[in-house]
Amino acid sequence: MPEGDTIHGLARRFGPLEGQTIARAEAHLAGKVQGLVGRTVQTVRARGKHLLIDVDDGTTLRVHLGMKGVGHFAARGPSRGGAGLSAEVALVIDTDAGRAQVRFPKVVDRFRTRDEPRHPVLSMLGPDLCTVDVDFDEVVRRAQARPRDFVCHLLLDQHVACGIGNVYRSELCFIARLHPTVEVGALGAARLGDIYREAQRQLRANVGKPVRTTTGRARAPLYVYGRHRAQCLVCGTAIVRAEAAGRGVWFCTKCQRQADPL
Ligand SMILES: [Zn+2]
Repeated sequence: MPEGDTIHGLARRFGPLEGQTIARAEAHLAGKVQGLVGRTVQTVRARGKHLLIDVDDGTTLRVHLGMKGVGHFAARGPSRGGAGLSAEVALVIDTDAGRAQVRFPKVVDRFRTRDEPRHPVLSMLGPDLCTVDVDFDEVVRRAQARPRDFVCHLLLDQHVACGIGNVYRSELCFIARLHPTVEVGALGAARLGDIYREAQRQLRANVGKPVRTTTGRARAPLYVYGRHRAQCLVCGTAIVRAEAAGRGVWFCTKCQRQADPL
């Protein structure tokens, strides 16, 4: 499941593209890469779950992997012909440094770089939890504007802070010993700040890791996500799966009681 740590790791892997001339650019939506051949990649970066590739023609490619997308970089010279695109591969960029490919993305888009502050999606993002300098006062302010939301919905809201996906929302609720349906308004500013600081710590620790872990244990890398009916690592109670906003949320009914004093 690609989350902010995945995308920041992907930006690092695509890093060798920087400063390289684009020898070949193909996309399912061909218009998205029109005119890129012969141009130079300036920067590869991430904002939350968005991968951004800045090109010297003043445009930026934006890739969102959604739930199934995968990025791959092969450090080798540009391919001489041969199929790049396929039903799976939606974007190919070849340079002398290697080939970047994206499979099954949710979005491949392109916009004028200077329009980023007004971009309909990017301009709405909250602070990026994968970065060092997160303005947690701003994150808490945005969170407190949604007092009636369940905390499990809040954590997925990229307008509050970006980078958390479905894995981390369950893990963060567990780490904070919060039932997923606790309302945001029941949490004080300090508690909210602590949850997002932990999110930053976990996301940053997992950037570039082949296997994501919140527990630090190789054999049990996650506390609750995807562990329906398995034993809670802390108390042994069977983990429960519920639906929230159309997606699974996993929790321990003993460690995360709804009525816990907050
Ligand atoms: Zn438990």
